[in-house]
Amino acid sequence: MATTLPTQKDPAGRYFINEAIKKPKLLQQMPNPYDHLVTSIKNVLNMCPPTLPWCGRFSGGLYYGMFVGPTGIAFFFLWLSKLQPNLAIRGLFPADYCKAYLSLQQEKYSAEETPRSGCSLNHEYMCYNAIKACYTQDITYVQKFAQNIEKLTLRPTFIELLFGRAGLLSLMRTMKYWFPESAEILDPEIEKVIQHCLSYDPWTFGTHPDHQKRFIGAGHGDISIISNIVMTNPAYAPQLQGRLERILALQTDNGNWTSCEDGGDYLVQFCHGAPGMIWCLLPLRKYYPDLQEKIDAAIAKGQKLIWERGMLTKEPCLCHGITGNAFALAEPQRSHFLHYATPEVVQAGLDKGTLERSSDNCGVWWSEAGRAWGWMMHEYDRAGLGDSVLDIGFPGATNP
Ligand SMILES: [Zn+2]
Repeated sequence: MATTLPTQKDPAGRYFINEAIKKPKLLQQMPNPYDHLVTSIKNVLNMCPPTLPWCGRFSGGLYYGMFVGPTGIAFFFLWLSKLQPNLAIRGLFPADYCKAYLSLQQEKYSAEETPRSGCSLNHEYMCYNAIKACYTQDITYVQKFAQNIEKLTLRPTFIELLFGRAGLLSLMRTMKYWFPESAEILDPEIEKVIQHCLSYDPWTFGTHPDHQKRFIGAGHGDISIISNIVMTNPAYAPQLQGRLERILALQTDNGNWTSCEDGGDYLVQFCHGAPGMIWCLLPLRKYYPDLQEKIDAAIAKGQKLIWERGMLTKEPCLCHGITGNAFALAEPQRSHFLHYATPEVVQAGLDKGTLERSSDNCGVWWSEAGRAWGWMMHEYDRAGLGDSVLDIGFPGATNP
C-alpha cells in the first residue's frame, strides 16, 4: 500500500503530528533510497532540463548561485559524480549532467555585487566560477573567483551564510576539497575573509542600516558563520569558542532556538531553529573537545523537539522541510521522516494541497534537487560508506 502523509496537523498547520511518538509500531523504515534518488533525478531533469530557456520558476527563472538555479544543480551532480559515477540516466552520467548544468549561459551574470545578489551563495558569478573550477580543474576559474573578492564591496556588513562572507568561505573550502591545487591562490583570500568576519561583533544582518537583526541560526546567523570559519581553518576554533558557547546557552527549554538572539519565530528547519543548529554542530564538535558534552546534550535536546515538530507541512526540501530536518535526526528516526518525503508522497501531498508548494521547482536548497541530495546522502549511509552529514553535508553550507 502506498504511504501517505499523516492526516493530522498541529493547530497552526505548521507540522504533521508524528504518529510514531505515541505508537512506536508505526515507526517506518526506508529500505530503498537508491530508487528514490533515481526518481528524484528524473524529476529534476523533467522539470528543469539543462536546456535554454531555463525552466526554473523562482524569480522568473533568474539564477542565484548555489541557492536557486542550474549552478546549484550542477553542484549536486558534481557530488553524485564522486559517489555514484556510473549512475546513468537517459544515457548520460552524473559528470555529463554536471557539465550540462554549467553550460547554461551563466557567464552572462555580472561579477558585481548588486543589492539583490549578496557576495556568496546567492551570487551567480561567484558560485559559477567556484563550481566550474571544481569540475574542470582549471585554475583560471579560481583566479577569477579570487580576483573578484575585493570588488564585492556593496555590503561589507554581510557576514552570514547565504548573502555574506561565510558563504565565500564555504565556496573556497569546496574548491580546495575538489581541486587541491587551488589552495595556493585561495589560502591568502581565506585569511583575509576570516579577518573581515572577525572584525564584526556582534554579527548582524539586514539590508537597511537601521533595521539590523541578530540572527543566530544556520541560514543567516552566527552558527553557520562560526562553523564556516572553523571548518575552513580549524586554527580559529579557540577564538570562536566564546561565541559558540553563547549560542549553546540560547537554546530554549523545549530544545529549540529562536531566529534571533533576542527572540523571534520558533521555526523548526535548517535556516532557523534546531535542525540547522544540529547540521552545523555535528561537524564543529570535533574541534571543541571541552564542549563535546554540552554540544551532545544540545543536539539530543534539539532532536527531541524535531521528532515532535519537524514533519513540516511545507514542501519537503533541505532548507525548510522534512528532508533537511531528517538529517538532523539519527536513525531510526531519520528513516521515519524520509519515508514521508519520497517522490510519490511529495507529489500526492502537493496534488491534494496537504503540502504547501515551494516557490522554487528544482533547486538544491528549496526544491527537488535538494530532495535528490537527501537521497544521495541516505544511500551513502545505507551503503555503510560513512556519515553523510559530515562527509557530504548541506550544499554550500556544511560541505567538507
Ligand atoms: Zn529555509
